[in-house]
Formats: sequence, structure tokens, C-alpha cells
Amino acid sequence: MSLKITFRRLELPTRPLEEKEYDVVVIGGGPAGVAAAIYAARYMLDAILVTKEKGGQLNKIGYVENYPGILKIMGPELIDRLYEHLAKYKVPVVLDEVIDVKREENKFNVITASDRVFKTETVILALGVVKRKLGVPGEEEFLGRGVSYCAPCDAPLFKDKVVAVVGGGDSAASASLLLAEYARKVYVIHRRSRFRAQPYYIRQMELNPKIEFIFNSNVAEIGGTKTVEWVKIKETGRKIFVNGVFIEIGADPPAEFFRKIGVETDGKGYVKVSKDQSTNIPGIFAAGDCTNAAGAFKQIVVAAAQGAIAADSAYRYIIKEFR
Ligand code: NAP
Repeated sequence: MSLKITFRRLELPTRPLEEKEYDVVVIGGGPAGVAAAIYAARYMLDAILVTKEKGGQLNKIGYVENYPGILKIMGPELIDRLYEHLAKYKVPVVLDEVIDVKREENKFNVITASDRVFKTETVILALGVVKRKLGVPGEEEFLGRGVSYCAPCDAPLFKDKVVAVVGGGDSAASASLLLAEYARKVYVIHRRSRFRAQPYYIRQMELNPKIEFIFNSNVAEIGGTKTVEWVKIKETGRKIFVNGVFIEIGADPPAEFFRKIGVETDGKGYVKVSKDQSTNIPGIFAAGDCTNAAGAFKQIVVAAAQGAIAADSAYRYIIKEFR
């Protein structure tokens, strides 16, 4: 343990957060970011977590049933658990959007949308991903009036109604199963003839009498008067009458931001990391869905594990003990 780290932890937190100098600034408040912050705190690093919103994609996930030790929990409920755990370590959480990370000598300045600047020796990028849009007529127009990207937020609004879920991955499956608890009928519209979701999810959907699959179909348009009334299928021209449409067609990393700060990304915009979660920039680490670490396998448990590894690597970088 370096003297510097021990000494800094003894300072009383009386000054504004941005006047201090940090060992680690974690950017992003999903499972990867929270795990990174918890591990950083346990290494006695002076850490701070800056995030636009607590929880990231977990806000938009229904039931989580594959996080070891927790049988079944709603995404937003898991966020509460994560932050309850983080609070124990007194890591400050700042709700703000990071718009830039600039190197200044051997430190970084993490700059937010409200002009706050956090000086730090290391940065952990855990920004997650941003949900994709379909890009069809009616999608924008009916946003909040039947079009949704968040099943746990909006499912209760569709009690005894008819809804469609668009997509064929785990998010679409998870959303359709949650929606089936409220809605009278759930159509799952997928552009291929088979789902890419986990087999367990597919089985649950098949067993649910409220769920009907519409394969080999793309949504061409979403229509209605005041609220959504139908979706039109491109291939057949069929109109399916629904009260709501949940769009679950995947997500993309914030590639533009990564380009701006100079971290190397793969062809799809995910941060390229080594097995210790380090990036091409010494002192900047990355974890979770925004990285290429586990390929397309984006799981909460994986993101949390990568956050822990990133914090361990940041610690070793600071004390100059390389493995
Ligand atoms: P995903 O796995 O990338 O699946 C997106 C789905 O949407 C695919 O079926 C894709 O079709 C379809 N799609 C993409 N663009 C489309 C378009 N323009 N029009 C129509 N359909 C389109 O995304 P995801 O389901 O959001 O999952 C993201 C990651 O999170 C995955 O790694 C997933 O495993 C993970 N996740 C895990 C859980 C869990 O473990 N409980 C829950 C949710 C998410 P194609 O099949 O043709 O590509």
C-alpha cells in the first residue's frame, strides 16, 4: 500500500468533490462501474463514480434470474442493491454526464456536461451501451404514447392490453416475458426465423400462452391516432393491432465519445481491452458492455467481474506493481 493512498484516505471530505485529486474516476454507473468503485474502495483508493444515471441498462431490464446468489430480481431492484452496497464504502456518486477526458501531464481531467472537472491518476470507463432505434415512421411520434424502450418502466401501463416486442435477443425475450405478466397478448416480431436469445428464455416464451411469435418480419411503420394502434409488417403488409410497441433490438457503445478521448475501439465501437481491462492509453481501463472483452456475451455477472478486474489493474498501475 503506498503512503500516498493511505494519507489521502485520511483527509476529511470537507472540500467540494472536484477540488480533490482522485486515484480513480469511474465513469458509468451500471454493474461494471459499481463493481469497479467497490473494489477500488476496498483497495483504499480515493475513488469517485460519475454517471448520467444510476444502473445503466439495468433500468431497462425486467427480471434478472442469472446473477449468482440472487434467484430472481427486477433490474431496477438490483440497482438499489448495488448502490446500497456501494454506499457502505462511501464512494461519492456524481450524477452528471462526462463529455471529455483530457490528459494533463501524468493525470487525467474528467470533464462533465456541467463543467465540473475531476482530476485523477486513472480512469475506468464503464459507460455501457445505448439502445438502438428502429428508425421507422411513427417511432419518434409515438414515443411515450405506446412506443417504449423500457419494459420494466412501462409494462404495468399495458394491463390487459395487446403489445408487440420487436427483436430476437435476450432483451426481447426478457421484455416479452415481463409484459406477458400484464398484457392480454404479446406478439414478438423478429426479422429471422429463429431467436438468438438464451435457450432458457426461448423455452419460457414457448410455454407462455399469451406470447405469439411473428418470424421473418420487420416492422415498417408504427401507427395510430393519439396513441399506438398498430404496427405494419414490411414483408406482408399486415397490420397487427396493438396498444404498445417495445423496441428491443440491441444496443451500441458510445463510440463517438471513445473516439474523442482517443481510446482504441474495434470495428463496432467497443473499447479494445487487454485481459487486465487496460486500454491503449496507460492509466485508462475499461469494463462491461462498452468493451470488446467478452465479445457479444453481455451479462451482468461478466460486467461486474470486469469492473473488479479493472479496479485491481488501476490499483496495480498506481502502486506500479505490474503482473
Ligand atoms: P442482441 O443480442 O444484439 O439482439 C438484438 C436483436 O434485435 C437480434 O435478434 C437482432 O436480429 C434484432 N435486431 C437488430 N437490429 C434490428 C433491426 N434494425 N430491426 C429488427 N431487428 C433487429 O441485443 P439484446 O437482446 O439487447 O442483448 C444485448 C446483450 O445483452 C446480449 O449480449 C444479451 O445476451 C445481453 N442480455 C442478457 C440478458 C440476460 O442474460 N438475462 C438480458 C438482456 C440482455 P438478428 O438476430 O437478426 O441479429
